[in-house]
Amino acid sequence: MAGIYIHVPFCKRRCRYCDFYSTTMEELRAPYVHAVCDELVQRKAFLNNEPVETLYFGGGTPSRLQPAFFEEIFSTIKDTFGTEKIRELTIEANPDDISEKWVQEIQEAWERQSSSACPIRFSMGIQTFDDNLLTLIGRRHTALQAKQAVETLRKAGISEISTDLMYGLPDETEEIWESDLEQALSLGVPHISAYHLSYEKSTPLWRMLQQGNIREVEEEKSILFFQMLRQKLLSNGYEHYEISNFALPGHQAIHNSHYWSNVPYLGIGPGAHSFDGTKREWNEGDLRKYISIKDFVTYDNSSFHHIEVSSLSERYDEYIMTHLRTAKGVSLHETEHLFGNARKDYLLKMAQPHIADNRLTLTDDGRLVLTEKGILVSDGIIVDLFADE
Ligand code: SF4
Repeated sequence: MAGIYIHVPFCKRRCRYCDFYSTTMEELRAPYVHAVCDELVQRKAFLNNEPVETLYFGGGTPSRLQPAFFEEIFSTIKDTFGTEKIRELTIEANPDDISEKWVQEIQEAWERQSSSACPIRFSMGIQTFDDNLLTLIGRRHTALQAKQAVETLRKAGISEISTDLMYGLPDETEEIWESDLEQALSLGVPHISAYHLSYEKSTPLWRMLQQGNIREVEEEKSILFFQMLRQKLLSNGYEHYEISNFALPGHQAIHNSHYWSNVPYLGIGPGAHSFDGTKREWNEGDLRKYISIKDFVTYDNSSFHHIEVSSLSERYDEYIMTHLRTAKGVSLHETEHLFGNARKDYLLKMAQPHIADNRLTLTDDGRLVLTEKGILVSDGIIVDLFADE
């Protein structure tokens, strides 16, 4: 099995905290889509005939693409890889792009081009329901628009909806975060992702922080916010299946879960990453260069397309980093199978202080899993477990 990720690099306006690759040059949408179709066809061999099970449109803002562009991409995927095995199609969207007509036309396009009965799943960037904070971080929607967008999706028969929330925003109070959680829960969506704001260097929000125009929330507050998040969602029936992801039973995101289980994926578009089980490849984030490429095979290892074959130690580090973030944790048995007995013993040795201090648990079936205390300091634990060479 395999996945396809398509990076849609357009944003109507840049949010103040974001350092993802995207551009406001929306006049380049048509040549971009043609290049995406060319890349899909020319890089078919990358997936080694593995059946494609998941398709993910991320961004940027995929909802800036008109339905006809989606249909062109769906049709190319159908002709190149087949759509019979696809069991999850996700489209990231901004609330103010969602209209009844747009959703309906995309559904019709997918029905025409898909041979699977897989419904479309939408992942919506809401971040907060506080209009002042939305304005401060540069989002272009309001809380009301976010709620209306979920309503519009529901009316169109879409039930697989995920919402992204963000906490630790400048001067955010417990009351604001509690209200965000309540309002997210009241939407009744089956999947919620929640991320702590991070001030990425050189973003406008980072500059505002440097200039003293905004204040970062204190660490104790960040911890409290995370505890509130977990408590609220768990008590409402959500499973905390990955550090930043919660889902009602049966609604975990398949595509993203595959990133944590070494399933191969082909990343298409400027800034997209691919993985075939042993090597990583990625395109530079440069839309103009991307649409000028004629041959997506001979661009290998050029200044635009990079290939990196990881060493066994690097693959072990990555395995630890991705698996420890999940509720299933790291299996000692699988570690031994993939990286050898000595590496498994090393892992267990390095995990001991964290087990003793209740940051990690060793389960009866031999898995190292983060405790609630461990989740709060997960980055440090992951680094401690990394290979020593
Ligand atoms: S957060 Fe999303 S919508 Fe905002 S600039 Fe970044 S990619 Fe675009």
